[in-house]
Amino acid sequence: MKRQIYQGQCSICLAKNQDLTEDHVPPKGVYLRPTLKQTHRLKRFGSHDKKPGKRINGGLRFPTICRNCNNVLLGAKNDPELIKFCKNIHTHFFNSNGTGVLRIPFDGHKIARSVIGHIFAAHAINDESKETIINTGEADNLLRNYLLNEGIEFPSDWQLFCWPYYSKNNTQVILKSFTMADLSNVTGGDSWYCHLLKFYPVGLFLTYKMPFRAKMNNDLIGLFEITPTSDSNGNAYFEFNRIPHDLFPENPQGSLIILLYDKFTSSTSPQTPVTLK
Ligand SMILES: [Zn+2]
Repeated sequence: MKRQIYQGQCSICLAKNQDLTEDHVPPKGVYLRPTLKQTHRLKRFGSHDKKPGKRINGGLRFPTICRNCNNVLLGAKNDPELIKFCKNIHTHFFNSNGTGVLRIPFDGHKIARSVIGHIFAAHAINDESKETIINTGEADNLLRNYLLNEGIEFPSDWQLFCWPYYSKNNTQVILKSFTMADLSNVTGGDSWYCHLLKFYPVGLFLTYKMPFRAKMNNDLIGLFEITPTSDSNGNAYFEFNRIPHDLFPENPQGSLIILLYDKFTSSTSPQTPVTLK
């Protein structure tokens, strides 16, 4: 069967009347497992649907970006760094037995651009009308401008956090355009805008105007900040005894809440459990 080609606007560079290509979220290559032959169950967060979820083969794909954004901007320029970062974390998971401190070198700009690109591509198509839904809010435009223009600074109100992530079911989570709030502070609570990609072995969390004091919340204290700076190459240090629980942030604890739109969110897990090797 010939795969249907959608025509429309690219959700990353906004070029109109493009042949839209399928973006893999997360990108191919970070999958240490599962394989393309494997069946996954796809569910929307927050939906009341009790069904086991839609079957998909392999990873999640979204026909929402033009060929140039897919093959050049993400595939050639930025994804290889995210893939390398994930492979390093995976290797250390086994060598360290999940204890101690991990030191992983990384190029923050490339990882950030890869994450932003896949966030824009994910769930950027209306299931019924097949029209692209584009993130064009002010905060997201700051990210788009940064993604498309090499050499400019990472937008100052955004931060990027990550942590080693492992779930028994090998669940992958995409939460796009959601709000997180910490209701516990004395002035009546803080809220901030976020995007999240989570798949073995890493959680990647973009936050906009997250107040510094919110970072003191127990659930957030184990996040490692990898926001790119002018010196883009750095080392990420993870302390295994401080990483967030495996359902963070979609099942917040204590005084944290999240607000999300189910059409911009999903979780997938393989139908048959995956053993890591
Ligand atoms: Zn494009």
